[in-house]
Amino acid sequence: MREKLKKILYSGTSDLREQLFRLILIVALIVTALAIVAGLFLQNATANTIPLACLLGVILVALLVTFRYHKTDFAALLFAVVVICWIFPLMFFSSGGVEGGAPVWYVLGLLYIFMMFRGKKLVFFLWLAIAADVGTYIIAYRNPEMLISLGGKTEVYYDSLFAILMVGMAVGLIMWFQIRLYEKERVLTLQQKDEIEQMSKSKDAFFTNMSHEIRTPINTIIGLNEMILRESVTDEVTENALHVKNASKMLLALINDILDFSQIESDRMTIVPVPYRTKELFDEIVDLLQIRIKEKNLDFFVDIDSTLPSVLVGDEVRIKQILINLLTNAAKYTQKGSVTLQAQGEMIEQNMLRLTISVSDTGIGIKKEDLESLYDYFKRIDRARNRKIEGSGLGLAITKQLVSLMDGKLTVDSIYTKGSIFTLILEQPVEDAKPIGKMDYRRKLKQKAGSYYKQTFEAPAARILVVDDNETNLMVVEKLLRATKLRIDKARSGEECLEVMKKRTYHAVLLDSMMPGMNGMETLKAIRFQENDSGQRTPIMVLTADAGAHDEQRYLDIGFDAYLPKPVDGARLEAEILKLLPTELLEYQFQQDAAEAEETAIRKILRRKRKKIQICTDCVSDLSKKYVERYDVKMMYQYIETDQGTFRDTLEIDTDNLARYLAHPGHRALVRSASVEEYEAFYAEALTEAENVIHISMAAHVGDAYQNALQAAQGFDHVHVIDSGHITCGEGLLVLGACRMLENGCHSVEEICQELNFIKGLIQTSFLFPSAEGYTGRGVAAFCRYLDLYPIMHMRQSSLKVSGFEFGKLENATKRYIRRKLRRKDQIDKRVVFIIHTGCTVEQQRAFAEEVLKCVPFEIVIMEKASVSCASSNGIGTFGMAYLSKINGQEYSKTD
Ligand code: ADP
Repeated sequence: MREKLKKILYSGTSDLREQLFRLILIVALIVTALAIVAGLFLQNATANTIPLACLLGVILVALLVTFRYHKTDFAALLFAVVVICWIFPLMFFSSGGVEGGAPVWYVLGLLYIFMMFRGKKLVFFLWLAIAADVGTYIIAYRNPEMLISLGGKTEVYYDSLFAILMVGMAVGLIMWFQIRLYEKERVLTLQQKDEIEQMSKSKDAFFTNMSHEIRTPINTIIGLNEMILRESVTDEVTENALHVKNASKMLLALINDILDFSQIESDRMTIVPVPYRTKELFDEIVDLLQIRIKEKNLDFFVDIDSTLPSVLVGDEVRIKQILINLLTNAAKYTQKGSVTLQAQGEMIEQNMLRLTISVSDTGIGIKKEDLESLYDYFKRIDRARNRKIEGSGLGLAITKQLVSLMDGKLTVDSIYTKGSIFTLILEQPVEDAKPIGKMDYRRKLKQKAGSYYKQTFEAPAARILVVDDNETNLMVVEKLLRATKLRIDKARSGEECLEVMKKRTYHAVLLDSMMPGMNGMETLKAIRFQENDSGQRTPIMVLTADAGAHDEQRYLDIGFDAYLPKPVDGARLEAEILKLLPTELLEYQFQQDAAEAEETAIRKILRRKRKKIQICTDCVSDLSKKYVERYDVKMMYQYIETDQGTFRDTLEIDTDNLARYLAHPGHRALVRSASVEEYEAFYAEALTEAENVIHISMAAHVGDAYQNALQAAQGFDHVHVIDSGHITCGEGLLVLGACRMLENGCHSVEEICQELNFIKGLIQTSFLFPSAEGYTGRGVAAFCRYLDLYPIMHMRQSSLKVSGFEFGKLENATKRYIRRKLRRKDQIDKRVVFIIHTGCTVEQQRAFAEEVLKCVPFEIVIMEKASVSCASSNGIGTFGMAYLSKINGQEYSKTD
């Protein structure tokens, strides 16, 4: 029976809703059939049986539609409409209304709607059911004569009991089915989860094995290639061998990236903070990268803050990995120019340093639209241009992930075709605050044929044992150590190693970690056990393909004396063995050639202390030299186009020149904003002196300056553009506000930007223009000129709006404008007013200033000659004022 029901429910469908619907129909079919049979025993058999027969018909049609045609949606809709709107109300009237079992069926109707519909359909049918239920109740209440009574008390009780039993059974069955379904799904989900975990484990194992398998042959390639480099006689062979070396290193880097990727994927990547020496970290990175950077004939500038603490706490290995990635990219994507590594620190709490490291290049840069996908896995941007540069698109994705695991921040500022700056910010506890002092990066760089290899020692009296199951690996190590004249014995397994060591003592043992039979760790334990009696303790170095970030520490913790990752690097092999050998066995040791070190010295740029925030604006903010110099504000120019050529505002032309030029009849001057590219160059320059740039731009709807500035800033994570909402004196006032905040010690970009966005709403900027041209229609402008009418302009929502007119002589009109604007003195903040003018005489300036002070006794009056841009756009004779309005009668206090 159970199997049959299962077959019916599941045949031809895997859709849960369809299965549920089928179950509802089957239950409804049984219940209806039983109800018809039961109804035959009641007095009112026919009246009651008609709606039930109809219901049976509807159920059969719905069953046909869903089983034959799989049109569950349609069947469910049909069932809902017919049963809820027609059959249930009919049953209600034919079975005595509230006295019989009909109300219980209504409950079933509502349940059906909740189970079968979602979203809008659910809402619709719910309202329909409520309307039908309420409607039938009201009709029955008002017209009791419409109800067909069930007969006697027995029938009423009987009908009610039957309805409760049937509905209860039906609901129970449906719930039972649902719970079973849920259980089934849960088991399935758990099974799938297990399978996924299993798959992920085998994927990780696959990656690890693959890495090991690939490392072994690369070990041979790199090792033997190194022998070719050491011994090669011709330049051509050396060149080829160098190419082999580079290609093998690339392959290795790729394997490491893939391993990291798989760790990140499976959430196994962890950060291990340990105390590390800051100087050593930078030394190693510079050592590693300088060859690569110099190979491309690029300059490498290194600028490390000499006050950085000497010991910090962090994941040194991962920090190195991040910096190597960034510097490798900088070298890869730069064809000419330089790569610069800068580091500086700032104590943010006691014993907590904010370490800021930036890697900049003068390379190809990154397009603004590509910045978003820069950190995506396997994503290589600008493929057409970068097709010749090797890469997997994993480096930056892994880097970003590592930075976020360290709770750090990685940002990029870039100008397409000009270069990029990647900035890493990490907070690191300080272990030893003693400054690292000046770092001198003058190392040798040698890539010439013949002088490739530099032997470091010779020890013919020393004897070492090399243990590896792979014959080629043994050969590689032996060849790499040939020049050192060490006596080398070989063993092919852990067991053989133990045997050999019983017979002879060694000055060092090089032990492969992964061997069939006894592996490296087991062999190490056995050696130590064997040595317990003799009191001997041979230094043992592990040779391993486990070259992950923390593997070295792991092996040292186990008890190895040294660690050497495969593929074996000849120089490192010598260096590590040298550390293990007793000094008396060293026949001689080679020192670094100091003169040679000088020869390829890296130019070190003098450290310039970068500011935290640089305030920039447009020259139209009309700030005088005094303020620009005092607050070190950077100004972006605009172009003034005249018949005699194009000039840059303030730099190449001043307002007096322009006034003289415009005095000639027919002379005109037009203003044009700097281009996006010019803004980019402006920001790039500003960022060489500051960590962040806040550019306070002229009003968004006056000219193109704001749009261009905004577009240029998209390529920089550290440039923030603010629409000042004002021009000239209003914009200038906002800039001064920002400068004052900085001066008062506020160093948060977010806080300053937030404040500026608030203050700009308080600034009131207005002007009296000598002509309405450009702001009204030509006819109106001519009419104004004829009647000596001058427009009063007001800044509102980043636009200039005409707010009135003055008339008569310009000087008198200006005074009237001042009085009109300053008449509500109790709403004006009296601390500062910024006035601009073009072409006013000294007497006029004095008179206007007096007029202003007569209306409102401002504490500070800043009066400046407007920029050339302002004079060109609005004409000679322009007068304007900007001040702050009070908030609820109070002066705004943050910027003071
Ligand atoms: P890849 O292996 O391709 O170098 P990365 O994840 O390191 O992968 O970098 C992703 C993409 O970002 C690169 O393909 C390159 O287009 C771009 N990129 C990274 N660093 C720089 C840089 N310093 N200058 C220009 N483009 C860069």
